[in-house]
Amino acid sequence: MKNIIKNIHIIINPGSGKGRSILPVINAAMKEAGIKWEASITHKAGDAVRLTKAAAKNGIDAIAVYGGDGTVMEAVNGLVGSEIPLIILPGGSANVMATELGIPWDLKEACTLISQGPPEMKTIDVGRFNNRYFIAGISIGFVADLIKDADRESKNMFGILAYFFPITAAIQKLKLTIYHLKIDGIEYDVQGLTCIISNVGNLGFTKISLDKHIDVSDGLLDVVIVRKANLSLFKLIFITLIKRERPENFELVKHWQGKEITISSSRKQAVQCDGELLENSHLHIKVVPGAIRVLVPKKEKKAVE
Ligand SMILES: [Mg+2]
Repeated sequence: MKNIIKNIHIIINPGSGKGRSILPVINAAMKEAGIKWEASITHKAGDAVRLTKAAAKNGIDAIAVYGGDGTVMEAVNGLVGSEIPLIILPGGSANVMATELGIPWDLKEACTLISQGPPEMKTIDVGRFNNRYFIAGISIGFVADLIKDADRESKNMFGILAYFFPITAAIQKLKLTIYHLKIDGIEYDVQGLTCIISNVGNLGFTKISLDKHIDVSDGLLDVVIVRKANLSLFKLIFITLIKRERPENFELVKHWQGKEITISSSRKQAVQCDGELLENSHLHIKVVPGAIRVLVPKKEKKAVE
């Protein structure tokens, strides 16, 4: 990899960014840094995969993505197996991977990561199923229902909080399901409301982690089952969202880690992958350790503990 990024291609999702003007910000930042840049625009699902693969053949130093997790996920699908690093310019309503890696949500600040001396890269895992890659995670049941019911407009207005607005509607539909899991060869049958297979620990809007042990570079995926919806679950969501503190009450949650996970449920439920709804009812998921390198902020020097 080159020590300095001088030539990039930017994939832009024009539906991102809450109507803000982005090209003047990118242009000014690249001009100041002396970086040559080209850009292409996505119009529909799958475009970012195709555009990333095409741009990667053109001798660039990095691919940048302006968009949310869905666009980043597509770029990753175009990049896995190449040596080209990824730059995330967060622009979506959910920027889970950017948050996980400490990448600023402010476009100008995110651009300055490209120009500040030798780039700092972090190698991260991705998940794989059905010959496609995911970056944040897959959820089945309750959490997938929330994303299904959040419309585009409310996502734009309220960002990640929009995912929680349809909570009342989703709660009315709640039914317990038996999840049949196989994690690295060991089988479990667990009753619950939702099953989450996560590559990242944060919720997309805050650095507060779902669980401090979830690590995007440890070569493991995390499997979480929420077992019941009762007052404690709402307290957990409320504390996490409003007070922005990590809740202490995790007795309602079961948690495993593994490299290879098979999952099916006793009845058909909504499934989402990186914010996109899927039809699958039986999932076979593997971790791909160290699949991609992403530009991250330079590590701050920590005091000796
Ligand atoms: Mg992990």
